[in-house]
Amino acid sequence: MVKYRMPVTPINYAIWYCYIQGNKPSLNAELDHVIAQQQTCTQDRAKAIFDKHLNKDDLALFQDVSEKFYSTIDQVQQDLGIALEHSKSFTTTLVDSQNELNLITDISSYNQVLGCVERLTDESIAMQNHAREFQTKLAFAYNEIKDLKEALNVSKKVADTDPLTGFYNRGKFDLDITDFCKKYSEQNQHTSLAVLIMFDIDHFKRFNDDFGHQKGDEVLKLVAKKVKEKIKETAKIYRYGGEEFCITAYFDTINDMMAFADYIRLDIAKLAVRKKGDTNTKRAISASFGLAILRPFTNGTVLVERANRALYIAKTHGRNRIEIAPDV
Ligand code: GH3
Ligand code: MG
Ligand code: MG
Repeated sequence: MVKYRMPVTPINYAIWYCYIQGNKPSLNAELDHVIAQQQTCTQDRAKAIFDKHLNKDDLALFQDVSEKFYSTIDQVQQDLGIALEHSKSFTTTLVDSQNELNLITDISSYNQVLGCVERLTDESIAMQNHAREFQTKLAFAYNEIKDLKEALNVSKKVADTDPLTGFYNRGKFDLDITDFCKKYSEQNQHTSLAVLIMFDIDHFKRFNDDFGHQKGDEVLKLVAKKVKEKIKETAKIYRYGGEEFCITAYFDTINDMMAFADYIRLDIAKLAVRKKGDTNTKRAISASFGLAILRPFTNGTVLVERANRALYIAKTHGRNRIEIAPDV
């Protein structure tokens, strides 16, 4: 990746990882072709290669493999530290033995035994030096991997984030929603409600049409800032598409869930923007909400469909309101 000036992103990692594994010849051929033509592979092209030859499971698998790799390195480092301690204590024992032998007065056996112990001591010191050298090298490699892991985390964060709002993006949502549903289904007891909240800014197109696209972006940023202030630690927020957002969250009761959604709805409804250079024209912002409570053994697609349908009802019933999806 470095050679071809490709940034350390999970997608780039995944395609190169598969390239080296070599079990997808069509991916190798395409990447070879792109590199031969352009001496690099752009983010868009890498994404296209990923979409064509790999899927999200491959990415998850790759992430899983790299996590295991890091934990293995951690373990080796620990083991080596322990081995060094052992070797140090071996040396101490030998030095002590040598000191004891120094006290022997019978000259005939003294020289022989002392010579033997000296050799052992030398060997042990050499062993310790080697181990220390090895540990230094390993620590260096370990730091390199740690830096790489940090770089990977940063680029992963960038890859998961929507630049306009700072929320997670759609790709991250598609990955996370499966986990959200799976985790809930795996629980033996459901003490809290797992909820998908979808909301969409009302008549957003009019901001663009009447005030300009830039003002539209400003509306998105304003709404995002407001919602970010209200979001609980366990909740996650995503920009699902254009002016549509998703929140996954847990609540103790339906009342808590409604109170939270209404709190956000009312806060958004307090926002307004003015047309540039026209201080008299003020346009209020509002959003409509569709809520779906997760039932065990439902998948992400069904949950999204239910929330989407509830959102559609909120729109047709007058907007700036909340609807809860009926149980299926
Ligand atoms: P409704 O109340 O039914 O949701 O109406 P709406 O106008 O909000 O919905 P519609 O789907 O008709 O229009 C959404 C518009 O959002 C269309 C698209 O051009 C615009 N849009 C999507 N993404 C962005 C963006 O990042 N910035 C800006 N400024 N506009 C965007
Ligand atoms: Mg809209
Ligand atoms: Mg929309």
